[in-house]
Amino acid sequence: MHLPDLKEARKRTSKEVEHIYLEQKYDKNSFKGKKYFIKTYGCQMNVHDSEEIAFRLESLGFTATETLEDADLILLNTCAIRENAHDKLFGFLGRCKHAKDQDKNKIIAICGCMAQEEGVVNEIKSKYKYVDIVFGTHNIHELQDLILKRNNKQEIDVYSCEGNVYENVEYKRDSNIKAWVNIQYGCDKFCTYCIVPYTRGKQRSRSSKEIIKEVECLVKNGYKEVTLLGQNVNAYGKDLEDELSFAELLQSVADTGVERVRFVTSHPWDFTDEMIDVIAKNDNIMNYIHLPLQSGSDRILKLMGRRYTKKEYLELYKKIKEKIKEVAITTDIIVGFPNETDEDFNDTLDVVNTCKYDSAFTFIYSPREGTPAAKMEDSIDLKTKEERLYKLNDLINKYSLENNKKYEGKVVKVLIEGVSEKDNSKAFGYTETMKLVNVSGGIPSIGKIVDVKITEAKSFSLDGEII
Ligand code: SAM
Ligand code: SF4
Repeated sequence: MHLPDLKEARKRTSKEVEHIYLEQKYDKNSFKGKKYFIKTYGCQMNVHDSEEIAFRLESLGFTATETLEDADLILLNTCAIRENAHDKLFGFLGRCKHAKDQDKNKIIAICGCMAQEEGVVNEIKSKYKYVDIVFGTHNIHELQDLILKRNNKQEIDVYSCEGNVYENVEYKRDSNIKAWVNIQYGCDKFCTYCIVPYTRGKQRSRSSKEIIKEVECLVKNGYKEVTLLGQNVNAYGKDLEDELSFAELLQSVADTGVERVRFVTSHPWDFTDEMIDVIAKNDNIMNYIHLPLQSGSDRILKLMGRRYTKKEYLELYKKIKEKIKEVAITTDIIVGFPNETDEDFNDTLDVVNTCKYDSAFTFIYSPREGTPAAKMEDSIDLKTKEERLYKLNDLINKYSLENNKKYEGKVVKVLIEGVSEKDNSKAFGYTETMKLVNVSGGIPSIGKIVDVKITEAKSFSLDGEII
């Protein structure tokens, strides 16, 4: 048994990161006929980790099911970014217990960022004994062995470490049209509110050769779009000697000929002019940038440890808008950071009024145990924070609609991804600028990039027809 340890998770040493090339073989007959169900919470990293987990389960012979009751193995891939994740996980575990009461042989496994939290694992250990396996973000590659060696005891194997880089990882991808590609793991920014540097280890870049190899293989297999993944993609390579910069990596990925390249998330602090130039000059790097603001107040930005000021952020925003043609910019904003005054909040609204974002993820600050901000006293009540969030969302939605309206009557390129969930006579896809479009007459074009005329703009999507 290995339990998470917050003190260890916080450590950053000069110890070299190992790059380990995996060559694992398992017997597909081990769990032949058995089914698995994965529930994924949180960000794109988790979605992509679940693709790795699905591959690993299938390497043992499991097949996927959409229903909890049918599953022989239930796996919850958790997120720790906000407090409400805790209630969601333990709420869902109640349903898993009910399913297990009907079939004692069901295996229940928990992994992801919450599994890296001391408090959560202690709670599972003492109160949720029916959970069979807990593993963390650093040992997904051990999943098959954990399942094969399990006995009647609860197995908890979570490592709080800086982490390694695993190459030759295989995935069961959710889509055969677009793919996630990890370029970097962990984070060293330690924004004072954020749990990620503790749950995901230190910032570790993959080798550019391996990244390009993966993208080339995806292109060969017909993938149209890749999204480069990391917590600070533009800090890519800084932790390695003689490695490409993020701008150079972007250029190399564009040179593979893949039709669309995207990346998330870029931190404003590491955003270079070279990067902007590379995006501007390559048609296959999409003109869409997610540029988290978090707050518009210099005082709060400093307390958050974000390393930029309102002025610097706005200068960067302006440069991106000027240089990248018709670029769409989205953001993340936190309201109600400890002691955020009306004046601080108005600074945030001021930036939103200047940037007129295409859309934004907005959050009420949630204290995360072990982070510096969680120790700060906070004089702001929840009602005030909620009112700020509503006000902010109204403004964000206003600008989303205004931006979307500009598309009405235009013809845009859309990568058609599948049948629309809301109206199965239509297809859905995304513009280069990452706008969701519901497309009449689009179903035969699934998997293709087609010209679509936008007929109507809404706040969160566009309607269009194939021309
Ligand atoms: N690495 C990205 C960056 O630097 O912007 C963000 C990663 S985080 C998974 C996604 C978003 O969650 C953050 O941008 C932030 O807005 C939000 N977030 C993180 N910690 C939070 C907290 N304690 N309370 C509320 N929102 C939080
Ligand atoms: Fe969290 Fe900041 Fe790292 Fe983003 S950059 S993951 S917000 S610590």
